[in-house]
Amino acid sequence: MRSIGEHAVVLGAGMAGLLVARALAGAYERVTVVERDRGRADGWRKGVPQGRHAHILLPRGQRILEDMLPGVEAELIGAGAVVADPGADHRFTLGGHTLARRRGAERAIQASRPLLEGVVRDRVGALPGVRFAGGRDVVGLLTGQGRVTGVQVVPRAVGAAAEEIRADLVVDAMGRAGRTRYWLERLGHGPVPREEVKVAVAYATRPIRLPLDSGAGKAVVVGPRPGSPRGMAMVAVEGDRHLLTIAGLDGANRPPADEEGFLDFVRTLAPPEVFESILAAEVLGEIASHRYPSDLRNHYERMRGLPAGLLVTGDALCSFNPVYAQGMTVACLEAEALRRCLDAGPRGLTRRYFRTVAKALNDPWRMAVAADLSMPEVEGRRTPAIRLLNAYVGRVQAAAARDTGVAEQFFRVIGLLDPPATLLRPSIAARALCPSGSPARPARTRRMAAAVPRDGGF
Ligand SMILES: Cc1cc2nc3c(=O)[nH]c(=O)nc-3n(C[C@H](O)[C@H](O)[C@H](O)COP(=O)(O)OP(=O)(O)OC[C@H]3O[C@@H](n4cnc5c(N)ncnc54)[C@H](O)[C@@H]3O)c2cc1C
Repeated sequence: MRSIGEHAVVLGAGMAGLLVARALAGAYERVTVVERDRGRADGWRKGVPQGRHAHILLPRGQRILEDMLPGVEAELIGAGAVVADPGADHRFTLGGHTLARRRGAERAIQASRPLLEGVVRDRVGALPGVRFAGGRDVVGLLTGQGRVTGVQVVPRAVGAAAEEIRADLVVDAMGRAGRTRYWLERLGHGPVPREEVKVAVAYATRPIRLPLDSGAGKAVVVGPRPGSPRGMAMVAVEGDRHLLTIAGLDGANRPPADEEGFLDFVRTLAPPEVFESILAAEVLGEIASHRYPSDLRNHYERMRGLPAGLLVTGDALCSFNPVYAQGMTVACLEAEALRRCLDAGPRGLTRRYFRTVAKALNDPWRMAVAADLSMPEVEGRRTPAIRLLNAYVGRVQAAAARDTGVAEQFFRVIGLLDPPATLLRPSIAARALCPSGSPARPARTRRMAAAVPRDGGF
C-alpha cells in the first residue's frame, strides 16, 4: 500500500480501534493507538466491560479478520480457541424454531473476548509503525484550517498535564463512550443526525465447566421472540470453559444476578438436556451483569462541512443490540471499507469513508432494528415493510427448522455473509411460504442429520 500520510491517531484499542489501526498501517508512516486502559489485559478490562460476556464473531467477521491478519485463526486456535462446525456443533433456536443441523462450509473459531482482542492486539502491535499509547484519556480534538489536526489527551497519573498529539488523521474508536459528536457540535458542526431504538437489554454471564459427558455441544443459542423477550447463549471457549450468557429486556425479563434467580432464568430457555448439564457444571466465576440501553446509529455521511482528517468507527459510529452478535463483525466491515478508501488516496477521504461505510451498515442495521421491533415491548415505528419482513422471517425460521438448505441460507444471512435479499430467492421463498410444496426436503433433512456425528448429542 502506498503511503498517503505521515501520522494517524486511533482513539481506543477495542476491536474496532485495533482493526482500523491494521487498515491504516502502511498508509500512514506512523499509527498511534491511544487507549485509556494500560497495557495488555489478560482477563477482561475496565474499558471493555462487555468483555466478560459471550462474544461470537460472525462468519463474515472471521473471514475479514483472517484476510487482514493472515494466520490469526491458527494463532487463536494455538491459544486455545475452540473450533466448531456451526451446522453440526451449534444448536440455534430463533423465533422458537431450532435450525436443522447440517454440514456447513464455514468453521467457527470460538474465543472469549479477552483472548480474541489479545491475539489481535499482539498482531497489530507488531506491524511496522504501529505504537500503543496506553493510560491516556482522550479529552478533545485539535483543529485548524477547517480540519482536525490531532487530539488532546490527559495521562492517567495524578497531576499529569494534558498532552497534544498532532496527526494527519484522527479515528474515533472509543465505543459508545466516543464523544466526537459532542466535540463536533461544540466546534459548530452539529448536530450529527442520529437514529436510536431504545431496547433496554440487560445481560448476565457466568463462566462454567460442563461435565465431561455433557452433550450440550459447542454453542447453544436461544434467541428472543415476540412474547418471550429473553435469550441465552452458551458458548465453548478456551480453557475448557463455556460462557453462559442470559439476556432479556429490562424490567420483567431482566436476568437476575443472584445464583438461584440466574438458574431459574436459564431453566426457562435451555433445552431440558442442556439444562441438566448446566446443573451439573462447575462454577468458574461470579455472575457479571451489563446493561445496554439502545441501538444507536450516527449519520455522519449526512453532514455538510464535516472537517477533514476525522473518521469514526465501531460502536462510536453505530452500535447494535448485542443479542445479534454483529458489533465486532461490523467493525471488520468498516475497517475493510476504510482500506478500500485508503487505496484511492487521501483526497476527500472523510466524505468517501462515511459514504462507503454507511452503505456497509445498512443491511446489519435494518436487520437488527426490524428484529428488535418484532418485540412488542420495544418502542418504535413499525412500518408496513417492517411488519411484512418480520412475518416473512418468521416463516423462513420455521422452514429452517425442517429444511437444511433454508437453514444454511438463513445462517449465511445472519452471519452477514449474504445480504438479506437472498432470503427472497424463489427457491427459499417457495419452501418458506409453501412448506408442503417441497416434498423432497424433509427426506433430505433426515439424511443430512443422520450424517452428523452424535458427539453433539442433540
Ligand atoms: C453484553 C455485550 C455482548 C456483546 N456480544 C457481542 C457478540 O457476541 N459479538 C459481537 O460481534 N459483538 C458483541 N458485542 C458488541 C462488541 O462488544 C462491540 O461492538 C465491539 O467490541 C466493537 O466495539 P468498539 O471497539 O467500537 O468499542 P469498545 O469495545 O467499547 O472499545 C472502546 C475502547 O475505547 C477506549 N476508550 C473509551 N473512551 C476513551 C477515552 N476517552 N480515551 C481513551 N480511550 C477510550 C475503551 O477503554 C475501549 O478500549 C457485545 C456488546 C455487549 C455490550
